[in-house]
Amino acid sequence: MQVFDNLYFVGTGGVASWALKTSEGLILIDALNNDGEAERYIDVGLRKLGLDPADIRYLLITHGHGDHYGGQAYLVEKFKPRVVMSEQDWLELEKPKLEFSSPRWGQPPKRDMAVNDSDLLILGDTRVQLYVTPGHTPGTLSLIFSVFDQGIEHKAALWGGTGLNFGPDRQRILTYSASAERFRVLAKEQGVDIFMSNHPARDGARERMPLLKQRQPGEPHPFVAEPADVQGAFELLRDCSYAQALKL
Ligand SMILES: [Zn+2]
Repeated sequence: MQVFDNLYFVGTGGVASWALKTSEGLILIDALNNDGEAERYIDVGLRKLGLDPADIRYLLITHGHGDHYGGQAYLVEKFKPRVVMSEQDWLELEKPKLEFSSPRWGQPPKRDMAVNDSDLLILGDTRVQLYVTPGHTPGTLSLIFSVFDQGIEHKAALWGGTGLNFGPDRQRILTYSASAERFRVLAKEQGVDIFMSNHPARDGARERMPLLKQRQPGEPHPFVAEPADVQGAFELLRDCSYAQALKL
């Protein structure tokens, strides 16, 4: 569904794919688990929303796990976007053995466009700020970008990798916690008032989208929060992961 003037959800109940509409085409954030999902939810989904998937210029992959890149082969073959990932996670995917794999996931992408911390992805009138927030993977990308609600600008921060599913690696968990703190500060400096994730169960998108459908004129947008509440989300990520490290 369309969530903001320039942002569309084309994911599933389990994992998100967000399409950011610019004056020069679409930036697609993540590719779902596999080609079948990319076809059913992204290709067909964008068309249902009045968008043309042939306009996807960039496929931005938040991190190198298959639930985010798995549908890339379908999208790359059909629409030929540039595939963007952090240098660190391209290196992860080039290792002989992946840290995580699943029969549900499609093939990893072939190296294309590598980005680094604090890079900007610019397309037409739109700028996406890219931050490397290591922890969930060594090169997880978290994003800050503007969205518009009936023309009013808001700032969204998308946390690119949630969970300590790599096991009891104390140093890596401390890195995760430090990344959450750094991104919290960046979000504060930029007045971010929307917390987003790449899993709709992690940022409340699953509950917020039905609320948005019922929204009456003049009511607040269910995705928009007080900046202090967005800060609270990053404090929670920082502190709960830190507590896990202390436990170890
Ligand atoms: Zn992951």
